[in-house]
Amino acid sequence: MAVNAGTLYVVATPIGNLQDLTPRALEVLRSVKLIAAEDTRHSARLLQHFGVTTQTTACHDHNERDKSARLIERMLAGDDMALISDAGTPLISDPGYHLVRQAREAGIRVCPLPGACALIAALSAAGLPSDRFAFEGFLPAKAHGRRQRIQGLANEPRTWMVYEAPHRLMECLDDMLAVLGPERQIVLARELTKTFETIKGAALGELVEWVRNDSDQQRGECVLVVEGMPAPTEDQGIGSEAERILDVLLGDLPVKQAAALAAQITGVKKNRLYQLALEKTAHQG
Ligand code: SAM
Repeated sequence: MAVNAGTLYVVATPIGNLQDLTPRALEVLRSVKLIAAEDTRHSARLLQHFGVTTQTTACHDHNERDKSARLIERMLAGDDMALISDAGTPLISDPGYHLVRQAREAGIRVCPLPGACALIAALSAAGLPSDRFAFEGFLPAKAHGRRQRIQGLANEPRTWMVYEAPHRLMECLDDMLAVLGPERQIVLARELTKTFETIKGAALGELVEWVRNDSDQQRGECVLVVEGMPAPTEDQGIGSEAERILDVLLGDLPVKQAAALAAQITGVKKNRLYQLALEKTAHQG
């Protein structure tokens, strides 16, 4: 540790409801010499609300690498500093990684102040397995990249989560439906901690129609929490006969129909057959 250096506090701020700023966060924001904020004008509203008059400086994706060196110098000279983003926990799909890394390399103490984080809030209320989970950040904005990423997650056994921008929600859900099939459970967590908070869980096919038919659901900030691929159990196992039937049907039918028909004939879960059919057809190129 650098002797006499200040501390870098990584401070979570609210994701909607201002009451979610912790008393400890407020104390630190008031006492540090400088607050490095993703967008100083955006954070000014929060700071004004709480009567925090500490000086702020911009530290965002475009200047973070260069800015970090100067901030590190000040901390090495003894100044305490806080890092905040526009909302929630810094570094979680937000800037801060370079600053934290450089601070640690310089021997500066980095102290996290936990608080609001959209993905953890969504997971805590989703009702999907939460003992192990994966966070994928934002999916690629372009359709091809997005589908590829979803395809890569199709067999992920843990619950997985993504952040999505409202104007891409419908496209993203349509791609999930095409790749994961209609049976996969999904939870849409919208406008968390705000007036129109909505947490809706359903099978993917049902949720897509619900969102499509209610444009209000396509607005605001959201997290998608997706059920992991259930592990095959003895009675869910596909078995060679069911696989043979699926192969025959895939010779003449599209993936979805082949899987549905094979499920009817064999009694194996449609979802499992659908995933297997997708894998088989993907390998065919
Ligand atoms: N650092 C933030 C955190 O700790 O959650 C995330 C920042 S990221 C740039 C913004 C994304 O987080 C939004 O597009 C949305 O997916 C999610 N998000 C932020 N606030 C939210 C809220 N109140 N309800 C639902 N999702 C939210």
